[in-house]
Amino acid sequence: MKHHSDSVTTLLDDLVDANLILFNEGIVDAFGHVSVRNPDNPEHYFLSRNMAPGLVTREDIIEFDYDGNVVDGDTRKVYLERYIHGEIFRSRPDVMAIVHSHSPSVVPFSAVKSNPLRPMCHMSGFIGLQAPIFEIRDVAGDATDLLITSPQLGAALSDSLGDNTVVLMRGHGSTVVAPTLKQVVYRAVYVEVNARLQSEASRLGPIEFLSAGETETTQKTIEGQVERPWQLWKMRARHAQKQWMDPTV
Ligand code: MN
Repeated sequence: MKHHSDSVTTLLDDLVDANLILFNEGIVDAFGHVSVRNPDNPEHYFLSRNMAPGLVTREDIIEFDYDGNVVDGDTRKVYLERYIHGEIFRSRPDVMAIVHSHSPSVVPFSAVKSNPLRPMCHMSGFIGLQAPIFEIRDVAGDATDLLITSPQLGAALSDSLGDNTVVLMRGHGSTVVAPTLKQVVYRAVYVEVNARLQSEASRLGPIEFLSAGETETTQKTIEGQVERPWQLWKMRARHAQKQWMDPTV
């Protein structure tokens, strides 16, 4: 295995945990992925090889460049949609980690353009006033597989994301970004929670969403505490994995 600095080694261990957590929390299933920028070489990022996130180990992590090329000649199969990561890391120097998922409560908001995903509780102020929707037909016509399978589509998605933290992908899923790996896991979990709550609340009546000021203030308070859910989710995910591999545990 390639030698890395201590800080990168820790980050790679966290990236494995991020994969397990996102699976265990129901954000990714057999599909979806999480990446982190290489702090020792900001034009590179780390992402698992093509496999289910719930099975990822340290040996499965591969280093990529912005164009989606494998850096060290690794020939294992890679994710078709890795361009999501490279193009967003290229255009957003503030972003250190990215989650792409098809988390099920969010997908309806990607397809109902008249009812935007908006932050409705104090845990999801990071959404901002509303999440933009990437419409792949605008850039690639009406017969695609809806996947981000080229640098050009990755760049178009990144344009739709703009300065936001979440971009919905019509009929497909969402992509969430953050300045740290732990924050991006937190956001990926809570964008799903917010979508579920927003769907439920909309059945009761008109929703009072967070104001611009509230989105900023709640985000600062809550995201200063991401270590708390991270530790909980990590223990739960590791325990679940152990039990799964050995039911007598
Ligand atoms: Mn996808």
